[in-house]
Amino acid sequence: MTDTPVRILIVEDDRGISASLQRGLTRAGYDAFAVSTAAEALAAEAYDVVLLDLGLPDADGTELCGTLRQRSDSAILVITARGEEPDRVAALDAGADDYIVKPFGFAELMARIRAVLRRSRLTETHLLRHGSLVIDTRARRVTSAGTEVSLTPTEFDILECLATDPGRVVGRQEILERVWNTHWYGPTRVLDVHIAALRRKLGDPSAIQTVYARGFRLGDLG
Ligand code: CA
Repeated sequence: MTDTPVRILIVEDDRGISASLQRGLTRAGYDAFAVSTAAEALAAEAYDVVLLDLGLPDADGTELCGTLRQRSDSAILVITARGEEPDRVAALDAGADDYIVKPFGFAELMARIRAVLRRSRLTETHLLRHGSLVIDTRARRVTSAGTEVSLTPTEFDILECLATDPGRVVGRQEILERVWNTHWYGPTRVLDVHIAALRRKLGDPSAIQTVYARGFRLGDLG
């Protein structure tokens, strides 16, 4: 895999703080991008670390923290101006990895970012490997023999579903329920369309095998 820069999402409504964070992080070699509302944070693309200000205009910061945690295993570093212990405890309980209290020095922030990255890299549980295929469930990126494969979010979810337990036949209904996150009673033709696209993008029709009347299985990839 190519060594892509660590992506850091800044969620902060104070434009001054946000801009200086983005500048500093970019200078330090991170790929930093900023949003100022919870709604934008929820719509943000994949990132490795989120710096999350708890005092946002459109949502309760602790709740947002919990929602982000449910959605991804990216590291969450909470920024709080409140400095009150209950807020910090609630954020940690909601899934934050660490917190930092405003005002803070940039050096301290950098140290905390390095620490959360070290912890998440130690585990590496976000990487699924199958033959030449590497699926990064945190950054939601896929490489095949070192080359990045560009997938839609739905295609990614289907592939992840199959790769979590490679070799096992995953039923159509199970994929539909896991990927569309609901009980699906409609036509399942939509799944075949995505499977066909995945085979094409992975450059190997046998990458995903159809097991008649049962479902799909990840094939052997060289
Ligand atoms: Ca704020």
